[in-house]
Amino acid sequence: MTLLITGGTVIGPTGATPADVLVDGETIAAIHAPGTGPSDTETLDAAGKYVIPGGIDAHTHMELPFGGTFASDTFDTGTKAAAFGGTTTIIDFAVQRTGEVVQDGLAAWHAKADGNCHVDYAFHMILGGVDDDSLKAMDQLVNDAGITSFKLFMAYPGVFYSDDGQILRAMQKARDNGAVIMMHAENGIAIDVLIQQALARGETDPIHHGLTRPEALEAEATHRAIMLAEVAQDCPLYIVHLSASRALAEVAAARDAGRNVFAETCPQYLYLTLEDQLGAPGFEGAKWVCSTPLRSKHESHQKDLWQGLRGNDLAIVSTDHCPFCFKDQKELGVGDFSKIPNGIGGVEHRVDLLYQGVVDGKLSLQRWVETIATTPARMFGLYPRKGVIQPGSDADIVVYDPNGRTRISVETHHMNMDHSAYEGYEIAGKVDTVLSRGEVIVSEGAYHGAKGRGRYLPRGLSSYLV
Ligand SMILES: [Zn+2]
Ligand SMILES: [Zn+2]
Repeated sequence: MTLLITGGTVIGPTGATPADVLVDGETIAAIHAPGTGPSDTETLDAAGKYVIPGGIDAHTHMELPFGGTFASDTFDTGTKAAAFGGTTTIIDFAVQRTGEVVQDGLAAWHAKADGNCHVDYAFHMILGGVDDDSLKAMDQLVNDAGITSFKLFMAYPGVFYSDDGQILRAMQKARDNGAVIMMHAENGIAIDVLIQQALARGETDPIHHGLTRPEALEAEATHRAIMLAEVAQDCPLYIVHLSASRALAEVAAARDAGRNVFAETCPQYLYLTLEDQLGAPGFEGAKWVCSTPLRSKHESHQKDLWQGLRGNDLAIVSTDHCPFCFKDQKELGVGDFSKIPNGIGGVEHRVDLLYQGVVDGKLSLQRWVETIATTPARMFGLYPRKGVIQPGSDADIVVYDPNGRTRISVETHHMNMDHSAYEGYEIAGKVDTVLSRGEVIVSEGAYHGAKGRGRYLPRGLSSYLV
């Protein structure tokens, strides 16, 4: 079946071009000058709208076991919510728990996702323990399983934490096999001291989650990760969920020196703050407990993060989607902020929240599409199958209405959460139609997809390797 998307403006890394897009089956067959495509096809009218590649959210945690509970979105509910928000690929984190065989952790993640996804999906692998066996497993995953990125933690001692020696060994392995090391860069050993001291003083409210994770300990860990990667012959390093100005400065300095260092930020760090959300009265701030934490509005973080996105010191915007309901989940930390499950849900809102940046003059249309789709595809070995509108690529396409408006609320979202981190936000732009491999799965707010239609995407190596 063929479909001609007519009258829209195609946005890609090379700019904005009025063009008609011909979809044949699951892929894009041709890009035509307006009005010159075949006349014997079904058409989709995109007049006055943008035609962009489907969003790729490179950082999600569906059903992640954390803090004595599980992230509340399954692959079913989470990928459906993603589709509503214009995201047609997620890269979730499979988990090797400490002491577990890496391949067993991966098999468990395939079992959760298989047959349940509404859009295509891929995996990174979290290494909960670096030893001879898991280092060997890295080669096997790169060569046979389509997994070419591994996440390590400098935070969470006793849970996912790796020490500097373990980190170095994993980086050396990645340098050999072409994988990217993704780093949760916070000094978890020092943070745990601050947490114990705060609790001993009786400081138990959610805001102390942020106050015990100061910027200096994110910047320090970011710096240390960059230095360790240098020792590992400039192993490719990708800092996840970067939230703070001084951490960004570390990434910028490394990039200025020509290093293989990349970073992402997330919408919560661009819009939400320590005082306004995490510091909400009573226990309400628990909704915004995530790590790295929201930062102070009295400092320059948000301004610096937007600037970093413009200049590519921040390459990607992902969500770190890790939703927990307020009732019974966030409430595990009543009276002790350190027991609040860490995470914010946002997989549905990333494309819209970043388009608001375009409207606000903080981001160009091209950077919008690059940071939400094209660069994630290139960074994580999905390009050019995903992340771009060109002949031969999968027909993952969003028709986006720049004149529409989106109101974010728990009443209308599709994520499995009993609250929204962005409740009441009204933002410019609206997802109009979503195609996943040529199939219209969302149209004017109605859902036409199905659970199980999403496919696993084995990934190649990063396009940014030198
Ligand atoms: Zn993390
Ligand atoms: Zn995460």
